[in-house]
Parts: sequence; structure tokens; C-alpha cells
Amino acid sequence: MNDSDSTPVRSTGPRQVRPRTEGWTQKQDADGKPLLQFAAPKRAMPPVHLADLTPEQRVAKVKDLGMPGFRAGQLEKHYFEHYTSDPAHMTDLPASGREALAADMLPHLLTEVRRLETDRGDTIKFLWKLHDGALVESVLMRYTGRITLCVSSQAGCGMNCPFCATGQAGLTRNMSAAEIVEQVVRANRLIADGGLGDPRRVGHEEERVTNIVFMGMGEPLANYNRVVQAVRTMVDKRHGLGMSARGITVSTVGLVPAINKLAAEGIPVTFALSLHAPDDHLRDEMIPINSRWKVDEALDAARDYFEKTGRRVSIEYALIKDMNDHAWRADLLAEKLNARGRGWVHVNPIPLNPTPGSVWTASEVPVQNEFVRRLNEAGIPTTLRDTRGKEIDGACGQLVASEEDQAVAAGVPAD
Ligand code: SF4
Repeated sequence: MNDSDSTPVRSTGPRQVRPRTEGWTQKQDADGKPLLQFAAPKRAMPPVHLADLTPEQRVAKVKDLGMPGFRAGQLEKHYFEHYTSDPAHMTDLPASGREALAADMLPHLLTEVRRLETDRGDTIKFLWKLHDGALVESVLMRYTGRITLCVSSQAGCGMNCPFCATGQAGLTRNMSAAEIVEQVVRANRLIADGGLGDPRRVGHEEERVTNIVFMGMGEPLANYNRVVQAVRTMVDKRHGLGMSARGITVSTVGLVPAINKLAAEGIPVTFALSLHAPDDHLRDEMIPINSRWKVDEALDAARDYFEKTGRRVSIEYALIKDMNDHAWRADLLAEKLNARGRGWVHVNPIPLNPTPGSVWTASEVPVQNEFVRRLNEAGIPTTLRDTRGKEIDGACGQLVASEEDQAVAAGVPAD
């Protein structure tokens, strides 16, 4: 099912707004198309951390440092269960050499620059400075029965989507696996210290992050190996955070070969395709990667993901007023999804978070409701996602360090 999109722009319904960037110039390649940056600029990566290594490599490294291999297990316990890298807390390690071991195996990765909280304290946005001064963010959200962390996987992003604040700056560098995992560990530390609002319990377990969404800065599948290593560490019950793979959502704008690779990894994470338009005519402009892999190719890969993993796929759809929220687009989306079978997919429309001063804004409520209704009526389970984090600019496409953030970060040393 790989027909090139021949869908005409239908003229019924509200006027069509053409995607364009506002207040910034989209970088272009030699052919005048939006520039896609797959390779990260050469920048020094952070020091190797325990979470960058497999369990076997951790043992080998500890031995290289002159310690018995079982010390690796002790360090894993401190880091993944007690969320600490501080040797002062590691009293089960011999005092002599403890500091050096922690410094070698658990080097400092993220310096907190800024923390923004909602009034109720149930949503927190962190701004982190990496060892080279690059800035990334994560957002922690408490919901009933679960705690979700939205993590970054790259500093900046090379996918150049015109509506996205992160895409404007281009790709600074890939994050290491440990920098990705450290966002979770630091969030868990904060929760354990009672820093996330109402201290209700999730089930009978001690509270911690239960769900991860790779929807912060970056295109996760453009940093494939490190993201997969981070996910393996998140789900590892003996040597990692022991999270459920189902609670981890890896999203992409549609890097088809990487979707196929992910499906073959044997880690049944939830997969989300950020589609935002069902027709190539619009998606070519909204999501520049569509010039490489078209809507039908991305949907075929998503369907294959379901086939291989048995995990129902999510389609993310930012509803933008008069741009992609037309009733006929809801119908076309339903048609394309139903053409690939039943029961394999769920659609999450999310009203766009407008960038300050932008003419791009969220669809009106009746339009949102009609969009959802049409999909549901066509047999596609569809739920309007909440826009938590909006008030602190913490929802998808909003994660970019402001000038003010940069100024604050300039005064904070990286370690
Ligand atoms: S929408 Fe996602 S993929 Fe596109 S530029 Fe923004 S962060 Fe990158």
C-alpha cells in the first residue's frame, strides 16, 4: 500500500492556512527544500556513564578500575533504586576509593538550571544544562494513577518542522543514553523527596515515574542506538529501572527504516507516529521528513510495528486551526487507517499549543469535537489528548530554551 498521494486539496469547509514559519527563517538545502539534519554536528559527548554500558561492560569497567566486579551491582542499586550518584550515600562501598569509583562510573551529567511548576505543583518543567553547555528540557506530570515524564533525546532537532519551537534552532547534538536515563533518575529523586505535588501513592509501590514519552526535544529515531540503549536500561528489571515497556512511548515524525528496526528490537514499547496530516500535499509542508517518506509509507511502517509487536500504535495529530483540522481530513485519516485493518491503531488529536504571537493556533472546540467524532464514527478509537504543560510551555513542540533560559544558564556552571 504505497500509492503516492494523489488526494486533491478539497475545497469544502474552512479556508486552508498554508504552513509557514513565523519570526524565523527555515534552513534550506541546496535544492531549496527544508534542510533535514540527520548527522549531529561533531561535539564532544559526555563522559561515559554506567547507564551507557551493558551490565557486562559495567562489571568489566569496575574491574579495570581495580575493584571487584560485584561493585557494579552495588552502584546499579544506588543509581537505579535509590536515585543517587553521591558517594557519601554509598556506605556499603569501602571508604577508600569510593569517591573515585563514583566519579568514574556515575559522572555528573545534568545541571539543573531552572524549574517551573504549575500552581498545583503537579506539572514540573526542568531545564538542564549538559556538560558542553547545551540546554535540554524534561516535563514531569502527575495524573491519576500514573506519573509521566516527557524526555528529550537530542539537544535541538534536525527535522525542521515549521510549527515547532525546537526545530527552529537545528540540531546541536545527540544526547547520550545516560543523559536520557538521567532525566528519569533525577525525576524519581524529586518524587522520592516529595517534590511532585500531592503525595498520593501509585498502587502499592513507592511512587516513581511510571510512564515515559519521548516527546521532548529531538527526534528519538534520529538518535536510534542511544535511545534504544536508554530504553533497554529503563526496562531492565535486574540492572536498570525495571519499568514496563508498555509505559514507554517512542514517537517519531516518520523515519521509516528506523521504525522497521524498532519493531524488530523485541522491546514492546508503545509506538507513536506524529502524523499531523493524512495527505502528502499538506504533510510535505508541515513535516519536512515527508519529502523522504510519504504518509502511506509511514502508515505502512506503523501497521507493521503493530504486526510485529502486537502493540497498538498511536497516531499523534496536532489540531491547528484551519490548517489540518478539516472534517474531510478526519475522514481521509479514518479511510487510510481502516484500509490497513481494524483494532491496530488509536488516534490522539491534541490542540496545538500556540507559540506566543503566532497566527497558528489551536482548533476551535466544535471543530476539535467534530474531528474526533468523525474518526470514532468510522471505528477508529480517538481521544483528545490533554494539553498539560501548556501553562509552562511544556507540551510537545514547545520545548525550547527561551532567551531568558539561556541567560540564566550562562550563569550556571556545567558541573
Ligand atoms: S516537531 Fe518534533 S521532529 Fe519536528 S522539529 Fe519539533 S522536535 Fe523535531
